[in-house]
Order: sequence, then C-alpha cells, then structure tokens
Amino acid sequence: MVGPRSSANRVLAGTFVAVLAALLPLLGLGCGTDSDWPKDHKGPKVAVSFAPLYCFASNVAGDDAVVRSMMTTTGPHDFNPTDIEARLIRNANLLFINGLDLDEELATKLQRGSGNKSLKVINLGARIPADRLLEGECHHDHGHDHPHEHASDPHIWLSPDFAVIMTEGIRDELKVADPSNAANYDRRAAEYVAKLRKLKADGVDLLKDKKDRRLVTFHESLAYFAKDFGLTIEGVVQKKPGSEPNQDELNQLLKKCRDGKVRLIAIEPQYTANTSAETVLNELRRKGLADAAAVEIDPLETANPAALTADWYERKMRANIEELAKAMK
Ligand SMILES: [Zn+2]
Repeated sequence: MVGPRSSANRVLAGTFVAVLAALLPLLGLGCGTDSDWPKDHKGPKVAVSFAPLYCFASNVAGDDAVVRSMMTTTGPHDFNPTDIEARLIRNANLLFINGLDLDEELATKLQRGSGNKSLKVINLGARIPADRLLEGECHHDHGHDHPHEHASDPHIWLSPDFAVIMTEGIRDELKVADPSNAANYDRRAAEYVAKLRKLKADGVDLLKDKKDRRLVTFHESLAYFAKDFGLTIEGVVQKKPGSEPNQDELNQLLKKCRDGKVRLIAIEPQYTANTSAETVLNELRRKGLADAAAVEIDPLETANPAALTADWYERKMRANIEELAKAMK
C-alpha cells in the first residue's frame, strides 16, 4: 500500500515547496480560500498530518481553535506537500504528527519549506509507552538501504486505547498554546475520550461471541486494532507494503491458511484491485475452504475531504468493526 518514492522525487518536491513558500508573499496569496486559515479567528491554528489526527484535534479544539489536515486523499506513506500545505504551515501555530517513522520527514519538509520557525511540531506517537508498541515493517523508502529491523509499527490510531492517549496529548498542547481556554479543552477532551471508550466497549461487545477470531490482513496495519479487540492476525498478504507477494510467499500464506483453516482476509477499500488477496481467496475456496471470505477494513490512512468531519474516525471505526462482526463466525 506504499507507492515507492524515489529520493530524487522528494528532493524535487522539497525544492518546489521551498520556492513556493518564498514566492507566496510576492504573489499576495493567503486570502480566504477553503484551504487557508479563517481571517477572523483568534484561536490557535492547528495543523495535523492526516485524517484520524484531524478528528482527535477537532473534537478537542471545538470553536476555540482551527484545525486543518495536511493530507486527505493521499495517505501518509505516499504524500508530498504542495503549495496549499506550505501556505497553511506558514501561519500555523501547532503541527500534530503520528510519529513512529510515519510522518516525521513530512513535518521537517513542511516546516523547512514554509519558513515558519515558531511552528511547534508535536509527535503524538512519542506518548505511547514503549512497552505497548509492537514491532513492524518500516513503511518508508528512505532512499538508502539501511534496514529498519526494529522499527515500531506506526498504525497506532487504529487502537481506540491509543487514540485516547493521542487525544490527551492534543489536549495538553492546546492548553499550553491557549491557556485562557484550558477548561474548555479539558471538558471537550473528556467528552471525546468517553466516546472513544464507548467505541471500544461496543466493539468488544459486538465481537464477544465470535469463536474464530483469526484473520489474514492485506498489509501490516491491523496489529494494534487486533490487540484492542482480541483478534489474531495469522498472516499478511503484502509483507512489504505496496509490493505483491512472490509465488513462494503466496504459497506459504496459502498453506498456513489451509492448514489452520483461516478463512478471513481483510482487504482495504482504497485498493480495489486487491489481486493478491483475491488470489488467496480463490485458492482457499478451490482447496475446500468453501466459506473463505474477504472483509473490508479501512486502515483510515486516507479520507474523502468532503466526508472528513470531526466524527469521521468514530464512524469509520464502527463500520470496520461491524463489517468484521458480519464476516466472523
Ligand atoms: Zn500503513
């Protein structure tokens, strides 16, 4: 699920942003488009890297701060900033990122390109206790061959428990940035945390009678989600995100599923041509696992901008859990 990016592309994009940022004052840009900050709002200007963080921040911000997401249709593995993001970051006060090697480079690039020296970048992943992080593949093409064997799995937002920790991190920073509204941030964060806890409790309840809680995932994105809801990930179709498995890997996965009778494969709605997932499914059905099935679980890395409202995260997570509940036995 990661489009490999060449380092040349990144350098080009970085230069592009830097040049644009330098030109912006000359062009007189920055007048009230949707992708700009509202002129009449006195509160903190809060940028976030991608969609789940937009929801966490918006719920805490209420009317006291303005929140903008840098990414929507392109996810954190494939994103390169444009002039719109550079312009937003130029006047932002805070930038919340996921961290864990997912979006730090983007933050550096944005900050450098925008020339905003007073921007405070907050790494929310750094608040997750280290002993609760799981090992994962490094998602990024760093433009060199240095292996990241002990990289942590960055998909923390897919755990409601971790979403709570991230929300509390946003609350604490907003209170520092805007102390006169501290009580409001406290109140709204508490309300949202209650919703996140309810989201988890409802999910656990919906899945509680499922006997077979095993699944294969399309890419390595659901480990924390699985932990929160007591599921077992038996294998991954795309070991290296974005690249199809070779015949050997496919055979190994098939054998594992056949032998263990693992019948569910999680697919991602963003990738309609899940060919390798389909291959696995068809093979399983052909080899006698008649009830093998695909279940659509959105890793929430991309969002339709029109649908990205403060309650998007809850809606999408609930839809994921309901899909799973329908498919699981
Ligand atoms: Zn991912």
